[in-house]
Amino acid sequence: MKIVDILNAKQTLSYEIFPPKGEMPLFEAAGVSEGLAQAHPDWISVTFSAGGTGNSENTFKIANALQEDLGVNALAHLTCMGATVDDMRGHVEALQSNGIHNVLALRGDRMPGRDTVDFAYAADLIAFLKQVAPDLCIGAACYPEGHVECEDFDRSIEHLKMKQDAGADFLVTQLFFENEYFYRFREACSRARIKIPIVCGIMPFTSVKQIQRMAFTCGASIPARVIKRLAAVGTNEADQRKAGVEYACEQLVDLAENGVDGLHVYSMNRVDVGMATHDALVDCGYWKD
Ligand code: FAD
Repeated sequence: MKIVDILNAKQTLSYEIFPPKGEMPLFEAAGVSEGLAQAHPDWISVTFSAGGTGNSENTFKIANALQEDLGVNALAHLTCMGATVDDMRGHVEALQSNGIHNVLALRGDRMPGRDTVDFAYAADLIAFLKQVAPDLCIGAACYPEGHVECEDFDRSIEHLKMKQDAGADFLVTQLFFENEYFYRFREACSRARIKIPIVCGIMPFTSVKQIQRMAFTCGASIPARVIKRLAAVGTNEADQRKAGVEYACEQLVDLAENGVDGLHVYSMNRVDVGMATHDALVDCGYWKD
């Protein structure tokens, strides 16, 4: 089913998984998929390594297994950093042969030795996909605090509008720890006539080290109340994880109350973390299995 059709009908709940590394990545992914399927999510997205590195070949296989083996809608990520038009035609064929109808079209992060080839920006990939596979439902990334490479917030909203104009059907946000930034961003989108649904991505942090890393890689601010909570729980990682999951649940409930289009949880392949967010939404009456 097309994700945009679900978003137009109700507030959604979804999760993200990444293809595990190691010797039995598909076996491990099946365990995570099965675990998260217990939350009866509207879809599960599967990440794709930029530049075709890492485990990107498994993205479509995992997305296919979600749909075929578990009956869960899949959203396959696809990056265009370093890709040629021919590479992308190959990916589109692979999507189609795996029965995948929903794609998150991304540029991918810049890294030393990796640059764009035929697609400079995600908007170029979106336009290409619309042309060669008009039936695909296409999502795109957005950044409530602006993208790390773009210092001007208004410019980043203009770039986002280009994704809508190129044919994006819905948006999924970068993680954020302060809901007020999302509400400000939602208003800015509305002023810029960005009308497609916006799904909020929330990551329950699991340790001090992890939240610091995420803040640096994606430019998400860490609010003082998160720092105070972490200071209060001390150095024990289990306590830090508990604090992170509690904080994410509070964020999700507040977003649900404020009528956002969808809630997407970056549970980092941890089924216990994903299910804790699901249970919090069920307890508050914002989610029914
Ligand atoms: P773009 O939309 O192309 O934007 C990149 C930069 O270019 C931004 O600074 C933007 O403001 C600027 N820009 C855009 N258009 C123009 C223009 N016309 N002129 C000048 N500047 C412009 N990465 C992965 O490798 N794999 C994944 O699976 C993955 N999943 C993600 C899922 C989500 C929900 C999000 C939010 C991010 C994900 N990423 C993933 C990270 C993503 O690849 C990076 O954030 C990347 O740096 C930007 O991707 P984009 O698609 O937003 O790029």
